[in-house]
Amino acid sequence: MKLARAWPTPCDGQAFDLLVVGGGATGLGVALEAAQRGLDVGLFESHDFASGTSSRSTKLLHGGVRYLARGQLSLVRQALTERAAVLKLAPHLAQPLAFVMPAYSWWQKPFYGSGLMLYDLLAGRAGLGRTRWLSRAATLQALPGVQTQDLRGGVQYWDGQFDDARLAIALARSAQAAGAQLLNHTEVTDLQHASNGLSRVSLRDRLSGREAVVHARCVVNASGVWVDKLRQRAGTGHPPPAQLVSPSQGVHLVVDRSFMPGEQALLVPRTRDGRVLFVVPWLGKLILGTTDTPRTDLPREPLALAEERQFILREASTVLAREVRLSDVRSEWVGLRPLVARPEAAGTATRMLSREHTIVQDAEGLVTVVGGKWTTYRAMALDVIEHCMEKALLPQRPAGPRDAPLLGAPAQAPRVPALHSPPGLHLYGTLAHEVLACPGERRELGLGLTEAMVRYAVRAEYACTVEDVLARRWRALFLDAREARSMAPAVAESLRQEDVHDPDLAGFTALCGHYLPEER
Ligand SMILES: Cc1cc2nc3c(=O)[nH]c(=O)nc-3n(C[C@H](O)[C@H](O)[C@H](O)COP(=O)(O)OP(=O)(O)OC[C@H]3O[C@@H](n4cnc5c(N)ncnc54)[C@H](O)[C@@H]3O)c2cc1C
Repeated sequence: MKLARAWPTPCDGQAFDLLVVGGGATGLGVALEAAQRGLDVGLFESHDFASGTSSRSTKLLHGGVRYLARGQLSLVRQALTERAAVLKLAPHLAQPLAFVMPAYSWWQKPFYGSGLMLYDLLAGRAGLGRTRWLSRAATLQALPGVQTQDLRGGVQYWDGQFDDARLAIALARSAQAAGAQLLNHTEVTDLQHASNGLSRVSLRDRLSGREAVVHARCVVNASGVWVDKLRQRAGTGHPPPAQLVSPSQGVHLVVDRSFMPGEQALLVPRTRDGRVLFVVPWLGKLILGTTDTPRTDLPREPLALAEERQFILREASTVLAREVRLSDVRSEWVGLRPLVARPEAAGTATRMLSREHTIVQDAEGLVTVVGGKWTTYRAMALDVIEHCMEKALLPQRPAGPRDAPLLGAPAQAPRVPALHSPPGLHLYGTLAHEVLACPGERRELGLGLTEAMVRYAVRAEYACTVEDVLARRWRALFLDAREARSMAPAVAESLRQEDVHDPDLAGFTALCGHYLPEER
């Protein structure tokens, strides 16, 4: 079972049908879709799977109530269908969740309620539950801890929630089981299109510094907000392509469940300054967020602006009965949305599939996919593979078993603690017995993580560093950064026992400071 990080021998000089750059939701979805069609697939991720935007989402599987307000009904319908599909693919990692919009004015219940009934209508058979008007008493029961002053009632509707980073690992493992080769901590450093129709792709192992070259018939650039960097590297001899991505950052704060100890989420559809605020129970804590602030740079670890943090604290304190202070924040994380700037500005855009995601093919044959959201990763993957087949960049192959459950998924919705409960063995689904077979299953290191889970993360889930374990295989950094820091030495020790030469304990300890606004 031990996964020795097989580098570089099986890779150097190897040729793939399809090479995917980036191991976030988009790239992993593309790799799985292609591998299920029997194509020879390689995926390379410069850091860790989902370490970019894909571990920093609000963790909602949703049709997009916001798009509904803008009248983008077909987008909403597609996302609602995809929401239902993902819930079936991994019921241990993605589950339905009830949301309540508390109403403080007489018009809010009918206004929001009728919009959400349209949401139900669009979902059709993919619906998760009916929208209901709630009385004041029912709202208080659903949202214990909500501000009671002037509360008139609420509207309850349904969406989904998930563990984004663990879903990414399930996708990676499922793609590997379907025949794809995936390597994390392996950066694509250069890309040359050769006259024989193959691309020559240079790789660098960021952990050891070793380099290799592989070849591919088709290269898909799924590097999220970083897509333009790769497009520029690949474009030697051509004018630089127009910028495709216009990033926007979103901040989340995590606080204890005691602020709202119920099992339903809260949505403020319109804050005083016209934004949206979610209060979502997740893995034993509460997520508060998010913001939407344009950025011009692309840091790996973006930091929140003071104004963004103040907005979340202020609005959460308005809708909750108890004031939320900076000292209550257990973790603060920031993600960059890969928003499409102006697809037509890319000049060679082959098709703009929707306002949500875009596929662009540059002169060198590099296919870039960007935009969209986690909820629609499957639809994006399908569009990319169909595009590549249409353009004869890939051989025609029929679709594979797209609705097959991901590795670890129980056949039925599991009778296990819901995703809003503290993390535990249930997150491994049908693979829990493999975790229990690792040494140290009784030794807890904190926040539900056992030594056996750490060993399993190395042996079966591609973890190479303390950060891989405590940020993404187990969400400790996102739940409580101080606690994660105190768990780190024991995790590093277990990694060393699993022959990880340098688990980068110092790097992780420093990173925890980024997630603790009080310490900056
Ligand atoms: C604040 C926020 C909240 C969100 N909430 C939701 C939500 O609730 N629900 C939802 O459905 N969607 C949500 N989204 C959107 C969703 O998270 C993103 O659309 C999705 O994660 C993007 O995935 P990606 O694979 O395109 O990008 P990424 O996850 O960033 O993946 C790109 C990967 O490419 C790698 N890479 C870059 N350059 C190279 C290179 N040269 N070589 C190899 N690898 C490279 C990076 O390390 C990175 O891991 C949210 C986004 C944000 C920012």
